[in-house]
Amino acid sequence: MKTIYLDNNATTRVAPEVAEAMQPFFGELYGNASSMHAFGGQVQKALDAARGHTAALLGAQDTEEIIFTSCGSESDNTAIFSAIRAFPDKRHLVTSRVEHPAVMNTLRYLQAQGYRVTFLGVDGNGNLNMDELERAVGFDTALVSLMHANNETGVIFPVERAAEIAKAKGALFHTDAVQSAGKIPLDMRKSAIDMLSISGHKLHAPKGIGALYVRKGTPFVPFMMGGHQEHGRRAGTENAPYIVGLGKACELALANLGAENARVKGLRDRLESGLACKISNTRINGDTANRLPNTSNISFEYVEGEAILLMLSDFGIAASSGSACTSGSLEPSHVLRAMGVPFTFAHGSIRFSLSVYNTSDDVDFVLSKMPAIIERLREISPFGKEGAAPSCKGTGSRSPA
Ligand code: PLP
Repeated sequence: MKTIYLDNNATTRVAPEVAEAMQPFFGELYGNASSMHAFGGQVQKALDAARGHTAALLGAQDTEEIIFTSCGSESDNTAIFSAIRAFPDKRHLVTSRVEHPAVMNTLRYLQAQGYRVTFLGVDGNGNLNMDELERAVGFDTALVSLMHANNETGVIFPVERAAEIAKAKGALFHTDAVQSAGKIPLDMRKSAIDMLSISGHKLHAPKGIGALYVRKGTPFVPFMMGGHQEHGRRAGTENAPYIVGLGKACELALANLGAENARVKGLRDRLESGLACKISNTRINGDTANRLPNTSNISFEYVEGEAILLMLSDFGIAASSGSACTSGSLEPSHVLRAMGVPFTFAHGSIRFSLSVYNTSDDVDFVLSKMPAIIERLREISPFGKEGAAPSCKGTGSRSPA
């Protein structure tokens, strides 16, 4: 069966060029980068090149600002714990209510340990209120951690401005750029951001590799203690094949930032407007003018997201839903709840996330299957009989949050 993968915010396929670049490091290039002999030297050279490609994607001033980690979650944890250890007298942290669990649950843990944590809300479009941020940050704030782009809706936070607000009060600023890296430009040289997390498996490198950007001069305390690797900032013998893979993926992502991402945006927009045109009672979740180019979070009123996913899966189409089946109850995601998405829409939300490997045929195929899926599910839903006409204006109907 033909398969169509539209779940690239969950994870991506490893690019063939990345797999090829990694291969020698499972074979003849097996040295330890720290060794003084030629085996080590060859690997060290490859790690230096990978650090250069990663720094280039982020627009870092210096390659030494890049620390390789095992994943995005480790990068986020490293940034958060570094900030509180660097400023032991500051007991306040600021974040948002729509963060990924890698940040959200770490800050909830610290809250339980006695830290004061401010969780900033978002409006109906998923945007932050910058005045609220300004009021929240104080001279006792150790860290402001705000994601760059939301994994569920793709909505982009103005992290450059947020970093300036944090710095004005002496707080450090971290951003989780796991979803934005490689999809929209990043330029650390033009920004006040202190720390920034990325993850390999969201940009066509394998799972199990990430990086943390730490601006030169930022107070830093390692998360992983031990050896001197990564300039003493992350102990553990370097995972050479995966670091090389991340470097290659960053090189490819930088090359694709312009034309390829514009093509992906075109596909996403056609998918979205096609669905809104063919299906009644739809709603795009998130600010359509301020989103990642690859992400569409769309709700179909009166149907369950999980049921849609199962029927899509029967046709070989992979996407994800905005509700999580936890403890036997279908709770809409914390992101859609924070945005105030009405209950009947929140339950029927689907996230389509595209990549450079998607084609126009993929979009046509989804558009050919979705109307019948939604019609069928609404037929068997006790609420699904009524309905407004589909909207062919491009973005579907928008309900006030
Ligand atoms: N942050 C965001 C925004 C994410 O989407 C994810 C993964 O879904 C992570 C962090 C965690 O990254 P990793 O899976 O590499 O730990």
